[in-house]
Amino acid sequence: MDQQGQNGLLATFREPWRTRGAVAYGVAAVLIGFYTLMYFRDHLGIEGSALDPETWASAVGLRSRWLFYGALYSVAMVGGAIYYLRRHGNSRYNRIRIAVNVVVQVVLAFTLPLVMPYFFTGDPNQFWKYEYYFSYFWPLDWYKLHPGSLQNIPVVLAIYSIVGALVAAPLLAYFFGKRWYCSWICGCGGLANTFGDPWRHLTSSSTASWRFEKRAIHTVMFVAILSTFLLFLDHLVGGRYATFHRLVDGGQWWSMKSLYGYVVGAILAGVIGTGLYPLLGPRVWCRNFCPMAALLGLFQKLGRFRIAVKPGMCISCGNCTTYCEMGIDVRSYAQNDESFTRAACVGCGMCAHVCPRGVLKLENAPRLNADKKRVGLPIVDL
Ligand code: SF4
Ligand code: SF4
Repeated sequence: MDQQGQNGLLATFREPWRTRGAVAYGVAAVLIGFYTLMYFRDHLGIEGSALDPETWASAVGLRSRWLFYGALYSVAMVGGAIYYLRRHGNSRYNRIRIAVNVVVQVVLAFTLPLVMPYFFTGDPNQFWKYEYYFSYFWPLDWYKLHPGSLQNIPVVLAIYSIVGALVAAPLLAYFFGKRWYCSWICGCGGLANTFGDPWRHLTSSSTASWRFEKRAIHTVMFVAILSTFLLFLDHLVGGRYATFHRLVDGGQWWSMKSLYGYVVGAILAGVIGTGLYPLLGPRVWCRNFCPMAALLGLFQKLGRFRIAVKPGMCISCGNCTTYCEMGIDVRSYAQNDESFTRAACVGCGMCAHVCPRGVLKLENAPRLNADKKRVGLPIVDL
């Protein structure tokens, strides 16, 4: 390990595969192709062929392409974690955070969904149609609060889904910021922080990208909430209104439920969100489209989390802004001696880690007391 933690900084702009060179485009093309096959396999006429992800899954003895995907995802995260920790492992925060990311992925998002059916039915072919992923909550896993999903799982898991999404997640975001989820638990954030780390400096910090981010992410959040409400409504009236039922949950590709899955789940989260890592940075999905990030961001702005700035220390080197995976111009706050809370911040801690002057600190504390005591500066919320 590089004990100074600076090798990563110096190498950032030297390696063509990390700076939108030909290799980066090649990797993006492979990722986009992979996600297209995964999500649109049923529409591409590739069933049973060598391009069929189900064929890959059976070749390694897994019962579905999604478990195969979970296995690949885990391998990518472990490899990415090693890469990340070799560069930034001299920070305790980073070591613990990345270790938690990997354990959550391997245990909660791969192993448990794989083995749970055996415990409940003893027969993997009779498992619930709804495989349960403990680390994903509504509205990120939009189907978690779908009435059909809730009915298909044991009551204890239905309660876990509801309380996790509607009580625990917002409360934790209020007290600890959205980092508890986006940088510690979530598989999307975990992949971004490990496998996606080589490209974190490609995230744009321009005003135009910030404007796009605000509009896009709140639109998806609104659609996620509204469509969940409509699904519940349809369920409550027992699908009695045929046209409404067909539009909302009818099973055709153009029904609301299917469209949400294709557009948000497949294209925005998968094909674009991960496929464009090597070109636009690893948080395309989290920053611009994730409804969970949008919702938790609102609680973060109301809550205790912030990046505290020590006054009079910044030398304007720009490392913090360069390394912010969410495109936040941290330097501008530091130059102005302003502590801040931004809804987009996922609390990865990299801005504080790469700052050569120790200007920045991630904090969870009642605002006024902590500010009076330690910083004495106004908080800026943007
Ligand atoms: S502001 Fe700092 S902690 Fe927040 S996302 Fe950017 S680099 Fe991570
Ligand atoms: S806060 Fe630190 S990393 Fe950011 S510009 Fe100032 S000195 Fe550089």
